[in-house]
Amino acid sequence: MKIKAIESFILSDKLKESFYFSQWEYSERRICIVKVTSDTGHVGWGEGYGPAGVIKAGIEFLTPFLIGLNPLETEVVWSIMYHRTLDYARSGILVSALSAIDVALWDLKGKIMEQPVHLLLGGKKRDTITPYATGMYFTNGGKLSDILSKEAKQYAELGYKAMKMKVGLCIEEDIENVKVVRETIGPNIALMIDANHAYNLREAIQLANAVEQYNIGWFEEPISPEYYKQYAELRTKTSIPIAGGECEYLRFGFQTLLQSKSVDIIQPDICATGGLTEAKRIEPLASVYGVEVIPNTWGTGIAISAALHFVSNMDSIPGRLKPPNCFIEYDRTENRLREELTITDMVAKNGEIKISDKPGLGFEFNEDVLHKYTLKE
Ligand code: CA
Repeated sequence: MKIKAIESFILSDKLKESFYFSQWEYSERRICIVKVTSDTGHVGWGEGYGPAGVIKAGIEFLTPFLIGLNPLETEVVWSIMYHRTLDYARSGILVSALSAIDVALWDLKGKIMEQPVHLLLGGKKRDTITPYATGMYFTNGGKLSDILSKEAKQYAELGYKAMKMKVGLCIEEDIENVKVVRETIGPNIALMIDANHAYNLREAIQLANAVEQYNIGWFEEPISPEYYKQYAELRTKTSIPIAGGECEYLRFGFQTLLQSKSVDIIQPDICATGGLTEAKRIEPLASVYGVEVIPNTWGTGIAISAALHFVSNMDSIPGRLKPPNCFIEYDRTENRLREELTITDMVAKNGEIKISDKPGLGFEFNEDVLHKYTLKE
């Protein structure tokens, strides 16, 4: 069996309403999707997390080394991609390109073997996963705390047991927004905050101390990801768990994060950090340090499905009779690509997502939608 073709596509969709976070504004969705076809006619789909055009260039760089390889040998293919990129990029976009191809290969392997990816990863250790709604970005057009409160109320009414909001605008406003959202959703829904590394250590401590009273599930990327020691210091100054790692690549990046005792929760993005193959190495590494793994997920149904299969296979650490909720990030911001590209029964219902036993990543891919949104060169 051989890899016959690798094709990549840049999809773009202008948003009806732009939104922003602490770093920049989103006015469109743009993503690089990869299609891998075997000589048996089977197809697998992957996507990369990050700037789509650069990821596409990375995929095109890797493709000639992979045509003719056995698609079932995911580790062999991974290893070739890794060694071909190591000298130029031990982290960053080339690793995202590798990740996109790796995710597509796992989907393809599942389709060829007619088995769900969770089974190929070693088995499903849980049937359902708790999605936390990611949203509550910043928008214009009214009082922000009112807008955020309305959005939080919608998630609560839809049955979400957890949600994550943006902070990082300015501390005073953040505190007010967090207060309003907590009051809106009541005490029983988990609430997380994400600053997208907007703050320095002093500011992060100030915000953490001010919002501790609102029972925050975790404080994500409070500080720039380079400052490992400052993350470690922040952990000693707050009882809120600290999360990070969406900007780390490969097990080596996570080793640095774990060794420096920077975070309580690591957040590898499967479509950036080395694909499912590497995520399966990062998870046991985190378990050695007793640190939780909750993947970062952003993008289309491909990325979400890959994360769902991965999380369903993760070990529960520590084991106990009634294990805690196992979370998956579930972006709820406007994204037609996410809604239209894949058809899946893995959707949130009453605050849970049931894991599919369908082959591969468990979705049907709509190629008409792919072509509708593909940028023409
Ligand atoms: Ca984040």
